[in-house]
Amino acid sequence: MAQALACLRVTLPSWPAAAARLLQNCWARVEKALPSDLSAGFPGPSWGPALAGQGPAAPDASGVADGLVWMAAPKNRRTVEVNRCRRRNPQKMVKVKNNIDVCPECGHLKQKHVLCGYCYKKVREETAQIRRQIGKQEGGPFKAPTIETVVLYQEEVASAEDQGKRIIERDRKRPSWFTRD
Ligand code: ZN
Repeated sequence: MAQALACLRVTLPSWPAAAARLLQNCWARVEKALPSDLSAGFPGPSWGPALAGQGPAAPDASGVADGLVWMAAPKNRRTVEVNRCRRRNPQKMVKVKNNIDVCPECGHLKQKHVLCGYCYKKVREETAQIRRQIGKQEGGPFKAPTIETVVLYQEEVASAEDQGKRIIERDRKRPSWFTRD
């Protein structure tokens, strides 16, 4: 039995050689099927897909210049264990999210427990503009005063209780989400 197995192992070709032979056979058949004037233009089976199993691992610049065509082929075989656990285990796949909600402010979709990215972006942009306004009014470098800061938008006047506070005036209408109090 052991001898029979050894015999079998010797006679069986390794898979790249077998694949190359198969592809060469295919190529010969394709050449036969092609009209003679068309096949004369081809350099022959040497550049055919059979090279994918035989040639060096990566094509170099000279190979490309010679008109070689390299097919994408996996460099290593993935084991059955890897295939089974990485691709077929549903627990390791990307999960479907069910906690998607509509933002009550703007209507964009967002996750239930997370701030709406769209609204947050608006706040960040307005904050950056306020900082720019501070720089324009006070000049650098920034020194945060110990007094409270009030942001006034267009058509807004400082009230009596705003006296003595740092007042930043913005040249636009007040955003709906930025309440005055
Ligand atoms: Zn929103």
